[in-house]
Amino acid sequence: MNFKEKLARFFYGRYGSDQLNMFLMIVCMILLFFAFFFPGVPSYILRGLSIVLMVLSILRIMSKNIDKRRRENVVFTKILFAVRSFFIRQFNRIRYIKKYRYRKCPGCKNHLRFPYKKGVHDVKCPKCGKNFRIKL
Ligand SMILES: [Zn+2]
Repeated sequence: MNFKEKLARFFYGRYGSDQLNMFLMIVCMILLFFAFFFPGVPSYILRGLSIVLMVLSILRIMSKNIDKRRRENVVFTKILFAVRSFFIRQFNRIRYIKKYRYRKCPGCKNHLRFPYKKGVHDVKCPKCGKNFRIKL
């Protein structure tokens, strides 16, 4: 058996990498970067934390409990998506501040965009159909 076959056999049935692992590795790199370039920050904390993250990431890659790792990744990607859409929304609020205003529907908490016209308006949510009043 050559090295390649041994390696393939070793990784057989193991979880491998995913978005959560990529994220852990990136955070790890950032922590090491800070520990290296900013000596003011106690670097043993940053180095220790990055080692913990790296070990966690390796354990996830080597794990044979694929179902559990997959569920962890689903939770992580949901959080990532929520954080990402929050920042995109904030960016768009600033970008289109002259044209639009953003409000939340009191019924379904959906984020709605309104053309900016000063005054009080009666509006209907396109998602849940609830009528409500907004002041722009
Ligand atoms: Zn609604």
